[in-house]
Amino acid sequence: MNRVLIIGCGGVASVAIQKCCQASHVFTEICIASRTKSKCDELAAKLEGKTSTIVTTAQVDADHQDQVEALIRSYKPNLVMNIALPYQDLTIMDACLACGVNYMDTANYEPEDTDDPAWRAVYEKRCRELGFSALFDYSWQWAYRERFQEKGLTALLGSGFDPGVTQAYCAYAKKHHFDVIDTIDILDCNGGDHGYPFATNFNPEVNLREVSSPGSYWENGRWIEIPAMSIHGKYDFDGVGEKDIYLLHHEEIESLVENIPDIRRIRFFMTFGQSYLTHMHSLENVGMLSTEPVMFEGHPIVPIKFLKALLPDPASLGSRTHGKTNIGCIFTGKKDGKEKRYYIYNICDHQECYREVRSQAISYTTGVPAMCGAMMLLTGKWNTPGVHTVEEFDPDPYLEALSQYGLPYTENFDPILVEV
Ligand code: NDP
Repeated sequence: MNRVLIIGCGGVASVAIQKCCQASHVFTEICIASRTKSKCDELAAKLEGKTSTIVTTAQVDADHQDQVEALIRSYKPNLVMNIALPYQDLTIMDACLACGVNYMDTANYEPEDTDDPAWRAVYEKRCRELGFSALFDYSWQWAYRERFQEKGLTALLGSGFDPGVTQAYCAYAKKHHFDVIDTIDILDCNGGDHGYPFATNFNPEVNLREVSSPGSYWENGRWIEIPAMSIHGKYDFDGVGEKDIYLLHHEEIESLVENIPDIRRIRFFMTFGQSYLTHMHSLENVGMLSTEPVMFEGHPIVPIKFLKALLPDPASLGSRTHGKTNIGCIFTGKKDGKEKRYYIYNICDHQECYREVRSQAISYTTGVPAMCGAMMLLTGKWNTPGVHTVEEFDPDPYLEALSQYGLPYTENFDPILVEV
């Protein structure tokens, strides 16, 4: 019997929760807890009578470790799934350590307040030493490795699609298809159209911070940073067609470099339409992506938070989004002394997701791996104590679970490579 505490009840969490309820044999009891309890109650009511998982709800502000600890002590879960925001990763990890519970999340830590001097000092040192300037990195959560190990607890970081499934694809390629991997290109294509001139597919604040930052990639033992969106090209995606692709910094590159140390190059590309980019640049130019508070009519407001309030809620895009996503990894390397290339990817249809869980494919492709990662921990398939990313574990049972719960993979043994 398992009791799982799920923190957050937004776009991604609501898919993960519905998927947990499809796997009641593993998720016997769940407690949905978030800042706004009414959202948890609404989802719990929707699930009533449709699952044998026992669903309860609670209110928690996960910015406060003591609140998370109190909830863990009263609910007594054997796993906490953090599907709130990256800002809460450390408080929830601290609470899990204090209470002796396993932890997982879908995105690595970044601070809400990037002006905090203590955080800035560490950040600026890392920028100088490592050579990339993204606001997020793994160092904050890797610093918990020994403490989780000592307590015999497992923390699984970044079990969404990217990060998450993309790293399982890397582990799968390494295990089954290559003796040596030379290069990896991670390709994230969203061919969906929601009909709005501008909206983001997941939390706007997190999404816009990521996309408007400089890009970077790993080559020949070091990071190379480039101005935002300055490396781009086109790629013809199976199931979607030709799209413009842009090189971004992405968190899984950092852990893959650690775990596949002999790799020569890793890059990450995402597709963007011209309308999205034009809006994003205009908003950036007028200061609407800033995280620094400004005074407006006597009140401090954070521009990007105000923008979030104006934009469509990503959770509301489901019914209007048509088209498909295609996310995967292209590898080059050697097998049995011969040069080899290999592409593994998933295609997901926005409307099929909507019919199943009332959500678009971005939340779906993140929520399903969140549930499958939790399933790996709860069934003891992934239970090495410490703090780990997905590629450190056996990919086979995870990919099997993903296929079973809605995200099967396709393989191509002669893919066209990315040329930019
Ligand atoms: P949403 O903004 O839709 O949902 C966030 C949820 O977290 C809301 O329910 C919100 O509550 C809750 N929350 C926020 N702050 C707190 C807090 N202090 N205490 C308790 N609950 C809180 O985000 P998404 O669902 O789009 O994204 C969820 C996570 O998934 C993010 O970390 C995101 O970065 C990650 N992600 C990962 C991807 C991957 O492939 N790995 C892809 C896409 C997203 P409230 O309703 O009160 O605001």
